[in-house]
Amino acid sequence: MSQTYDIQLAGARELPDQDPELATLLDQELDYETGVLAMVAHASVAPPSVLAAAGTVLSNVTAEGYPGRRYHPGAEWFDAIERLAVSRAQAAFGARYANVQPHSCTAANLAVEFGLLAPGATLLGLHLDAGGHLTHGAPASVTGRAFHSVSYGLDDAGLIDYDRAAELARAHRPGLIVAGASAHPRRIDYQRFRDIADEVGAYLLADISHIAGLVAAGVLPSPVDIAHVTTTSTYKQLGGPRGGLILMGAEHATLGPDGRTPLSTLIDRAVFPLTQGTPNAAAIAAKARALDVVATPGFKATAHRIAADATALADALIARDWPVLTGGTDNHMVLLDVSRRGLTGAIAELALSDCGILANRNRIPGDTRPPLVAGGLRLGTNILAQRGMEPADMTTCAELVVRVLDAVEPVSDTEYRLDPDVRKGVLDEVADLCRCFPIPGYPQTTP
Ligand SMILES: *Cc1c(COP(=O)(O)O)cnc(C)c1O
Repeated sequence: MSQTYDIQLAGARELPDQDPELATLLDQELDYETGVLAMVAHASVAPPSVLAAAGTVLSNVTAEGYPGRRYHPGAEWFDAIERLAVSRAQAAFGARYANVQPHSCTAANLAVEFGLLAPGATLLGLHLDAGGHLTHGAPASVTGRAFHSVSYGLDDAGLIDYDRAAELARAHRPGLIVAGASAHPRRIDYQRFRDIADEVGAYLLADISHIAGLVAAGVLPSPVDIAHVTTTSTYKQLGGPRGGLILMGAEHATLGPDGRTPLSTLIDRAVFPLTQGTPNAAAIAAKARALDVVATPGFKATAHRIAADATALADALIARDWPVLTGGTDNHMVLLDVSRRGLTGAIAELALSDCGILANRNRIPGDTRPPLVAGGLRLGTNILAQRGMEPADMTTCAELVVRVLDAVEPVSDTEYRLDPDVRKGVLDEVADLCRCFPIPGYPQTTP
């Protein structure tokens, strides 16, 4: 074992004595994660080696700038590690450019938007209520304040309304169009968006935060050579540390709005110094580790299982008469309209989590309820597939979800009653299921 890990082992041994309060909470978190049926669509579990890489002496390194061009001394090994992370990101996505410094996908999106748009310029993105992300121009986000934000939505079938997006682009002449979603179960047509962008002279940003693993594995088509810039989180399907990533393919040398500076240079400057300071060196080491895992056949197999599981989960829910939006899924995500069954998203989320099942409330198209109540429930199969569950096992998962939702009696928008026998029965079965499918590399600590 490398000496780096002598420090981690020493730290792990000292922690319970030095700080029993924190050590106990961390153990409880591990117990919780291993014993809960996590079907939250954004979540995944990081392999132990990614967690180890995130907790190294690289935490001690402070160095602004990029490899070979730092504003501080002593970054020789960090330079080598950042270069490794960049080359692995390029390899994983077939990209020509990668920036591994964004602290999150939010930070990555802000860098791209502020790097390519002047304040007050027009940004066109998917509306938050239609499944878009805050950073795509929502009023509650700085992106909705700094830019003139225009939003497209969904058609009657719940699919992205490309015709409307094209109309809005012609009418408002955005400088940047964002294609991507936090809550959309269907494939996105990046070429269609690129055609719209070309027609009005806009740049195209593809935000694949939720689906980056499926894209890297080839389960979903890649926007990297179609969009000008692609962004993602590293902790969702990539199973990496908290963080973000910016990628460019065919357009990396295209000139920016000034007609002189290549996009790659603009985006480097947009991350640092425009929107961030020192990079998180330890997180970059963990990104390097995670992106190496992404290149393995095992990761690819899991990605295929994620998508197959989601399809099976949607089918099983439909078979039990629960309204699945768009009638199915192309990715890892299933959206349920629980309002049509007299529930709110909040009640569905709370009742399920009481029974050891995690899925989150989500607004759905046409939702009249406030975001904290919502009329939808968003489910995902990332962790189920990471635990080794196959499409056939989705019948069990769907049955557990439905058993809870069918039994819930709403009292208000956020309060409910649930038969204690149902709760106990589901909790027991969830514990069994979690024991049968342990998280790879994690101790299964539930009794
Ligand atoms: C989660 C998400 C983000 C934000 O990612 P963070 O890394 O949590 O900041 C951005 N865009 C989309 C589409 C997302 O789903």
